[in-house]
Amino acid sequence: MSTSAHSSATESVTPTAAVREGGQVTDRLVALNAGYAKEFSDPGMDARPVLQVAVVACMDARLDLHAALGLELGDCHTIRNAGGVVTDDVIRSLTISQRALGTRSVILIHHTNCGLESLTEDFRQELEREVGQRPVWAVEAYSDADQDVRQSMQRVRTSPFLLHTDDVRGFVFDVTTGLLREIHSDS
Ligand SMILES: [Zn+2]
Repeated sequence: MSTSAHSSATESVTPTAAVREGGQVTDRLVALNAGYAKEFSDPGMDARPVLQVAVVACMDARLDLHAALGLELGDCHTIRNAGGVVTDDVIRSLTISQRALGTRSVILIHHTNCGLESLTEDFRQELEREVGQRPVWAVEAYSDADQDVRQSMQRVRTSPFLLHTDDVRGFVFDVTTGLLREIHSDS
């Protein structure tokens, strides 16, 4: 039985031509990769991000991080998950990013109209009822993006594992205007 847990997690999407064409989307993407590779030349880059910055953002399909921030290949680490929330696994990636790959700055990006705003921790109970097992992770649902950005900044700044917590800034990206709005921790 399909679940409200599934459907309620889905952010509103417009069916694309790719979806309407049917067949395996992955097969089509792999075919497109062949064209990409044909034009690709080895940039000879180091794994260390050029701008020494890690960006933590929601996985939302409407947020094109590189375009929105004017980033180029090799500039940054991008760490994405549902909501762009700072989970233990994000801290793991940030720790590796800073300690092994030389990043110093952290940018956190949530966005308007996030799918997480329509969820609550009941999502976990619904999952448990359906599959007989409760996930170990929190849903990290939120109703106030600004407040959740503040909480995420706080989690980064107080992590004992990170080397650099002096340049941690948070933003909400407006999916209708493309504009970032900075969130200040004390406001
Ligand atoms: Zn989102």
